[in-house]
Amino acid sequence: VSITKEHRRPAALPVWDIPSWDERFGVHAGIAGGRIDGTAFDLGLWGGQPVGEVMARWRTFRQEYPGCPRTVLAHQIHGTRVLWHAADNPPGWLLVDGADGHGTDVDGILLTVTIADCIPVYLIVPDRRTIALLHAGWRGVAGGMLARGVEAICDRSGASSSDIVMHCGVGICGRCYEVGPEVMDGLGLQADGPGPWLADLRAVLADQAARLGIRECTASPFCSAHDPDFFSHRRSRGTDGRMIAFLGRPADVRGGAPSG
Ligand SMILES: [Zn+2]
Repeated sequence: VSITKEHRRPAALPVWDIPSWDERFGVHAGIAGGRIDGTAFDLGLWGGQPVGEVMARWRTFRQEYPGCPRTVLAHQIHGTRVLWHAADNPPGWLLVDGADGHGTDVDGILLTVTIADCIPVYLIVPDRRTIALLHAGWRGVAGGMLARGVEAICDRSGASSSDIVMHCGVGICGRCYEVGPEVMDGLGLQADGPGPWLADLRAVLADQAARLGIRECTASPFCSAHDPDFFSHRRSRGTDGRMIAFLGRPADVRGGAPSG
């Protein structure tokens, strides 16, 4: 799997963009949140932080994307349900229960998922206006979340899986993710010798992608657990905040292909 690197934006707000997705596809893609000079920027809605402070940070984050006035987020359940968002989503912030993936072919909708070690999976059909963003922890990976996302894209756009470009974003790496036998079993990995074992979710996702017929799949070089700028549920033993991975095609003048 080749590496596609997120770039830290030189600003007070901790945002890592994927510049190549902006350049090639005209979309906003990346991850927001984590630490900046040691100060936490927590976008977690369900973490017990004072709600007014969390909402203020979300407002700051959303203001970065005026071309995407509609934001969607779900309370995630480590399942495989992918919601499809249509043109009649109202402007503002749509908060949905019980889903781990979002897709749309409408410009101006910013898809978001909550992340702290799990892998954000970005999917796009470059020639069409179709995108999807998935939250994939081991349960999602084991349960076929990627296949559900690919299915949703192909059903809606008429594209085939070979038309999809995929990126596995910032999450826990294969050297940090120590797991027990149920995870190895769920991921279809061989658990040799006495555990615990190490599992590389992005490698498993890349393998699944190849089987599904996806020809271009890249991975982030960053690890939420050993790169201290990011939040890690594992490293912090559950005390860290949450980051927000995002993907959206702006509805303003930046919406077209940059090369015209
Ligand atoms: Zn790591």
